[in-house]
Amino acid sequence: MTPRLVSFVVPVYNEQDNLPELVRRSLAVGRALPYAFELVLVNDGSRDDSAKIIAATAEREPEVVGVLLNRNYGQHAAVLAGLAEARGDVVVTLDADLQNPPEEIPKLLAAIEEGCDVVSGLRRRRKDTLFRRVASRLMNQLMLRITRVNVGDYGCMLRAYRRDIVDAVLACGDRSAYVPALANSFAGRIREIEV
Ligand code: UDP
Ligand code: MG
Repeated sequence: MTPRLVSFVVPVYNEQDNLPELVRRSLAVGRALPYAFELVLVNDGSRDDSAKIIAATAEREPEVVGVLLNRNYGQHAAVLAGLAEARGDVVVTLDADLQNPPEEIPKLLAAIEEGCDVVSGLRRRRKDTLFRRVASRLMNQLMLRITRVNVGDYGCMLRAYRRDIVDAVLACGDRSAYVPALANSFAGRIREIEV
């Protein structure tokens, strides 16, 4: 399946220092893709200048869509707001703080083209402390127990979703949803890719 349009969706909360680099690198990656793309930046009620930067960027760059939420709803609610605006046949989520390098997105899209419904990034060499890694492994195991849905690396928000999965997630209408788990519960073919 070759997508016609790919959407990158980024939740943004107090990211004024990261936004310029995020936009520059995401646009470079998106413009090099063999399909059309859009960059959906969702301001989640930031208290810094993120909203201003997003509005100015959307004005300047034709591929950028700004979504400005009236207050802080939390990361996953912001992602859901972005999914609702995204028009792509494939939607890629990533964090604004550049912990997920946008340069890895083409790898995820290749797996979608090969037929995956959901492709999730897997952080192999993490720039985290030992405590953070152990805590995160425990969290992954706990989440698997509770939800019975294996989403792999829970902390990694660099993920690609096929349109029908996005629609299924949105149809749930649950603003408190944890997007990766909900999406995986609808997905038949899931792949993890090291990023
Ligand atoms: N974020 C958001 N709303 C919030 C908190 C975070 O939209 O209330 C965004 C944040 O700007 C980033 C992503 O969600 O793009 C992940 O947040 P963070 O880096 O703080 O989380 P972690 O790296 O600990 O998962
Ligand atoms: Mg982060």
